[in-house]
Amino acid sequence: MNNSTSNPKKDPMGRAIADYHATGKAAKLRVLSSMFYEDEIPVSTLFRTLDDMPPLEIEMLRLARGRVLDVGAGAGCHTLELMKRGLQTVAIDISEPSVQVMKERGIDARLINFFDETFCEKFDTIIMAMNGIGIVGKIERLPMFFRSVKRLLAPNGQLLLDSSDLRYLFEEEDGSFTVDLAAGYYGEVDYEMRYKGIKGECFDWLYIDFDTLSFYANEAGLLCEKCMDGEHYDYLARITSKQ
Ligand code: SAH
Repeated sequence: MNNSTSNPKKDPMGRAIADYHATGKAAKLRVLSSMFYEDEIPVSTLFRTLDDMPPLEIEMLRLARGRVLDVGAGAGCHTLELMKRGLQTVAIDISEPSVQVMKERGIDARLINFFDETFCEKFDTIIMAMNGIGIVGKIERLPMFFRSVKRLLAPNGQLLLDSSDLRYLFEEEDGSFTVDLAAGYYGEVDYEMRYKGIKGECFDWLYIDFDTLSFYANEAGLLCEKCMDGEHYDYLARITSKQ
């Protein structure tokens, strides 16, 4: 169930990445959700260079060391930056067009689902940028996520990830915080993307606050530390093995 890759006919982001790579421009990549107003991802941001990256991502790249795995690498912007720094980096993604684009950009890119248990190489650093942990989808899948992390981390390895605490969506003017506990964890979002005529399948995407992440990492026998706070309820975390 978790070893699948995207159906190219239903892969709006992959198509947008391929167009932008081929022509330097792309149409609107629309993002729909039952929780937010319709939004748009400027496709150029998936091709960002160091100058356009937010401080959390710059710090993530600075902390990377050894052999690196870039999970959900997209167009490969972070991988390219790490390669410039001389770090051997493997990029994985479930989007066939994205992997093809990354290969054309000179990246060791592979069409692999992070949860695929047959993928068991070892890495000193795993990066998941732009809320890459979103692929977990639902809180209940965190134990499975951490099993994959442990399978792929070399001894003394580290996972670097950025995410956001969505509590600001539920904050009242007086600073109090109202969530419907029966509705599940408040950072569980549903998304659907559209690009040109391509309508993607609806998918679950998880935003996780630092304390909840830390709790589940500990349950899995891992250490979780905050490296940096971002500008708007976002943060950079590092997860390592307990020694
Ligand atoms: N990290 C990139 C792209 C983020 S978009 C950046 O910061 O620009 C998220 C990417 O994750 C998409 O390219 C999507 O195809 C990929 N993805 C989604 N689920 C995945 C999974 N289970 N394993 C690997 N990649 C996945």
